Amino acid sequence: MLRVEEAQERVLAALEPLGDEKVMLAEAAGRVLAEDVVAPRALPPWDNSAMDGYAVRAADCAQPGTELGVGETIGAGHLASRPLARGEAMRIMTGAPLPAGADAIVKREDTEETAPGRVRMREAVQAGDHVRHAGDDVRAGEVALGAGTALGAGEIGLLAALGRATLSVHRRPTVSIVSTGDELCDLDQAPGPGQIVNSNAWALATMVRAAGALPVIHPITRDNPEALRTRFRLALAADVLVSIGGVSVGEFDYVKDALAAVGLTLDFWKVAMQPGKPLAFALSSHGPAFGLPGNPASSMVSFELFVRPALCRLGGHRTGMFRPRVTVVFGERARKSAGRRMYLRCQLRREGETLFARPLAHQGSGMLRSMIGVSALVELAEEMTEVEPGARLPALLLEPI
Ligand code: AMP
Ligand code: MG
Repeated sequence: MLRVEEAQERVLAALEPLGDEKVMLAEAAGRVLAEDVVAPRALPPWDNSAMDGYAVRAADCAQPGTELGVGETIGAGHLASRPLARGEAMRIMTGAPLPAGADAIVKREDTEETAPGRVRMREAVQAGDHVRHAGDDVRAGEVALGAGTALGAGEIGLLAALGRATLSVHRRPTVSIVSTGDELCDLDQAPGPGQIVNSNAWALATMVRAAGALPVIHPITRDNPEALRTRFRLALAADVLVSIGGVSVGEFDYVKDALAAVGLTLDFWKVAMQPGKPLAFALSSHGPAFGLPGNPASSMVSFELFVRPALCRLGGHRTGMFRPRVTVVFGERARKSAGRRMYLRCQLRREGETLFARPLAHQGSGMLRSMIGVSALVELAEEMTEVEPGARLPALLLEPI
């Protein structure tokens, strides 16, 4: 059976980022650049003042206590009407362009008005003091943001400063979610005898959206080879096909065969993990397909470990496809059989620099409550059989702490 990391590598190795589309800057948050953005202008565009104060020639104020006559006042957004004369200071505000001839700023706090129109500099002044030079932030012509950059507030601010109203970003992957099972009914139906509501489609659609992709929930498909093939053919129109259930060794588990029948090649089928050992990964010219197991915790943990990284990669992300791994102090005793990696759904608590993990009460793979308030997946290694309280264990952080 494949180890988790081997399976993850095989998934990522099979995938390339999707093509690009144009978006408005207002819609660009969370997207990933598909172009190198070259700065059409320098930032700042011209030398300007970093302080409210006085624009001077440093050579005029080389000694502490120099007194100068004050010429005009330059506000941000205004240009001086003439160059700075020798022996003159101009009052200047933060962000205003330096007048020609000035090479330093003296901040207001370091000056005294000795008489109307006269100012005394307390300290000696050096060329460049409190000046923001053109291009200090970004030089004209340089690649300000490279393809593959994920766009957050800082990046979007920079793009606006460079005047970019539209951008080329990677397409968001579309994800067909196909729930399979004779026992499933829709949310708007009263469950009949032996039936349960198709809850996984809702949970997984939420995870798809959180990964920056677009879910398409398909109608429930019955445990019937013909129905599965028909549904899969339609569902392959999306970039990614995710099916739920029917992928194990049960009498009515037809998903693997149906994926093969519609032209997908099975890459792997089992991963040495718990919850969620059965997990089919298949490929076709249309894109990848994941056959997730039906138990709610199994499907969500499998999604987290394999589908989420795949969606990040398709969406153009170059980093951040895997969750941060931290060390936690495990609070309880746990047992498992050797052979599979176990992912315990846990809550974290921080004390000083130490993270303490407490497993949620219902760890069964069919228990929805094992996913309520989960902030980390604590890993019990394949060969482990017992964990003592206080053990230090690796954990994947699902949310910031
Ligand atoms: P399966 O993987 O099809 O053998 O299903 C394993 C368990 O998960 C069974 O108890 C199913 O009823 C349940 N299950 C399968 N699909 C879903 C679903 N979409 N929503 C909720 N539970 C499901
Ligand atoms: Mg089933």
